[in-house]
Amino acid sequence: MSRRDEILRIEDLYVHFYTYAGVVKAIDGVNMSVLRGETYGLVGETGCGKSVTMRAVLRLIPPPGRIVKGRVIFNGVNLLELPEEEMRKIRGAKIAYIVQDPTAALDPLYTSGFQVAETILAHEENVGKKSVWERVVSLFKSVLIPDAERRVKQYPHEFSGGMRQRVVIACAISEKPELLIADEPTTSVDVTVQAQILEVLEDLKKTQEMTMILVTHNLGLVAQICDRVGVMYAGSIVEVSDVFRLFEEPLHPYTRGLLNAIPHVTRTQFRLEPIPGTIPDLINPPPGCRFHPRCKHATGICKREKPKLREIEPGRFVACHLYRGD
Ligand code: SF4
Repeated sequence: MSRRDEILRIEDLYVHFYTYAGVVKAIDGVNMSVLRGETYGLVGETGCGKSVTMRAVLRLIPPPGRIVKGRVIFNGVNLLELPEEEMRKIRGAKIAYIVQDPTAALDPLYTSGFQVAETILAHEENVGKKSVWERVVSLFKSVLIPDAERRVKQYPHEFSGGMRQRVVIACAISEKPELLIADEPTTSVDVTVQAQILEVLEDLKKTQEMTMILVTHNLGLVAQICDRVGVMYAGSIVEVSDVFRLFEEPLHPYTRGLLNAIPHVTRTQFRLEPIPGTIPDLINPPPGCRFHPRCKHATGICKREKPKLREIEPGRFVACHLYRGD
């Protein structure tokens, strides 16, 4: 992989939250690379740091959180060193973020069309009212909201959950971002609406030539639309692979555990195998490999030394002492 193909590279990222109970070491040395044009799935259990990592890309870590260390290179520029004014031009324009909960993302006091128009006006000067409104209607059409001319004048409470999420997507794509981060975009909708939203995202990605990072804990979604996958555990990426090899032959014991814990139509197993234990306390995380208290392969070195993410075959990276090769 050439670095010219990368749209985003995260290097050695650490994010801590300074709470009264202690320092929560939420992100612990994340390294990640996203290629231009691909759909990258970022997966892991709730609380593993997926959303925090993505918020760090946009420098939207709320207090008491802080990015302690690392680099976030977008199109060759380290976003963590940009002045806030420059960063504002990137947020929402070059990198857009679709949040989990569309109800919280939309203001109930303004029409949905007004909120999309506001996003456009925040990034563009000297645009006429009429042309903005025409663009809003066309954005509503592109995310398949029927009767767009009428719907732009309606308030968020007049939309179903799925339709609200489409309004949020319309806001996100209004400036034709190069990178779209979709953070659990289908969590709050039912399965049929989930399929429709994924279809909208896939269509947009193709027609607008965007790169997409899909943050999810749903491996079914990943199998459906992602090209490559990064698996996160307790603040670090533990495995990266193309989607086919990850499902065919997962390498990291945590990835294997995740896949064994979901039902499979072609397998004749009667019981699913849960991963024993729970995710660690990130104020006092276990030393060495953070997965070691739950791992049946753990040895002495796992308790002492954090394994590095290494490329063990072309395009396959794993952070586990089982694959040290020395
Ligand atoms: Fe298990 Fe050790 Fe690999 Fe961690 S490094 S996943 S504890 S074998």
